[in-house]
Amino acid sequence: MYLEEKGISRTKLRMIRLESRVRVWGAVFLALLFWVFIGVIVFNVDGPGYMMFTFATVLHFFLRFTHMESVNTERITAEDTLIGSEAEAEAAGASVFWRALHTVSRREGFLDENIVAIVRHDSDKQAWALKGEYHGVYGVMVTDWILEALDEKELEAVVSHEMAHITDVGSDLNALCVIDAIINASKSLSGAIPLASIILVGVWMLGYGDQPGDLMLLTLVNVCTFIFGFGWGHRLIAFIWREHEYMADAIGCGKMGLVWPMINALTKIVEPRPANTIANVIHYEPKKHTHPCLEDRMNHLLRIRK
Ligand SMILES: [Zn+2]
Repeated sequence: MYLEEKGISRTKLRMIRLESRVRVWGAVFLALLFWVFIGVIVFNVDGPGYMMFTFATVLHFFLRFTHMESVNTERITAEDTLIGSEAEAEAAGASVFWRALHTVSRREGFLDENIVAIVRHDSDKQAWALKGEYHGVYGVMVTDWILEALDEKELEAVVSHEMAHITDVGSDLNALCVIDAIINASKSLSGAIPLASIILVGVWMLGYGDQPGDLMLLTLVNVCTFIFGFGWGHRLIAFIWREHEYMADAIGCGKMGLVWPMINALTKIVEPRPANTIANVIHYEPKKHTHPCLEDRMNHLLRIRK
């Protein structure tokens, strides 16, 4: 039995959504601003620096956007059970999951034939959204553990969360790939720029151009991209990711009209914040995690109640 359901406030949900958008787009704007700043410096340097910059950026954008597909679909392996009908669901012992998925996907306007339920046979506490722009597969994958541990309402809440990643712009994880691309391009530059610097030294020693100034600029860029890529870039991605998780929780529950099934499910699936020992304070860094801990997710969810 769930605790008393107070109902969901649409106004609070809209406010939380707006706040989240402002935070996420603020972070994206800062990242882009940084990238433009680096770009302006590099393009003012004669020599191969700007070529390295362009190459690393284009390559990384390409790699990250190709990776988007694998994030969505290549996770399905031959060992996973694909369920496309009620009979298949019954045979796989996943009728409850199938029903939950269809309740949610019909609500979202998907045709039954475009939705697939996938069961992965392991004991991980995991659920994934499958947003198949490339292979046409939309659906949700859960593990055996999830099927056994959650009841029908909790399962519906989890499916509703995953479906929010697919249908809601504010929770769409693919949007993360853009910022991910910027940060990873920056990491690549940390390798490319020293190389460019070495080439510049060579060119300078051969007696061409005013290279020492360029060298200093490139070193500056290198230090900046290193700090950005390996330092707070990761935190930025993790931060935006966490915002997406909170939004998917809120949108999922909002559409379902219930908060407690999700909180119950999270209690079973998500790890609580570690105890406040010195070792944990030093080693556990919530700002580097893409998924928030249980307490934070619960607190965010409780905010959308009336
Ligand atoms: Zn999620």
